[in-house]
Amino acid sequence: MTRTDTLIVDIVELRRHTGTRRDVEASLALDDMAVADRSIVDGRLDVALTVEAITEGIVAYGAVSGTTRAPCRRCLDDVDTPLRLDFHEIFENDPTDGETWPINDERIDLTPVIREVALLALPLAPLCGDDCVGPEPERFPTGAFEESEPAKDDRWAALDELRFDE
Ligand SMILES: [Zn+2]
Repeated sequence: MTRTDTLIVDIVELRRHTGTRRDVEASLALDDMAVADRSIVDGRLDVALTVEAITEGIVAYGAVSGTTRAPCRRCLDDVDTPLRLDFHEIFENDPTDGETWPINDERIDLTPVIREVALLALPLAPLCGDDCVGPEPERFPTGAFEESEPAKDDRWAALDELRFDE
């Protein structure tokens, strides 16, 4: 499968008959697939979609997979996790902002859609393993806690005795 950085599907044929579908497979290599220190490894996303003409426009559904990389929330080492997304998006001539995507010149550009869906799926705070205990904690010098405890004031000792007498 050839790697590509754009995935545009011509829908002229599809739209001739509602219900017509076409399989779209690609291996995408996208730039800037990162949000701060979280990313899609190599910007690589494998796409196996079906594109189908529906009354409203075009629906694209299937799977998008890749590998996410994010720092472990305890030890901060990079954690790679397989990503597999169920993809289901609708394209229309007059798209609804934030809900559906545009059809331009009888073509749909799947690239920005796949990008957004994949970035939204980046893990927020993964763990490298259930047993990760994080970095070795810095040790306090032995006895530090005892020494920092305030010395008992003799004047309060008298008060203590008063209370006991009651
Ligand atoms: Zn860890």
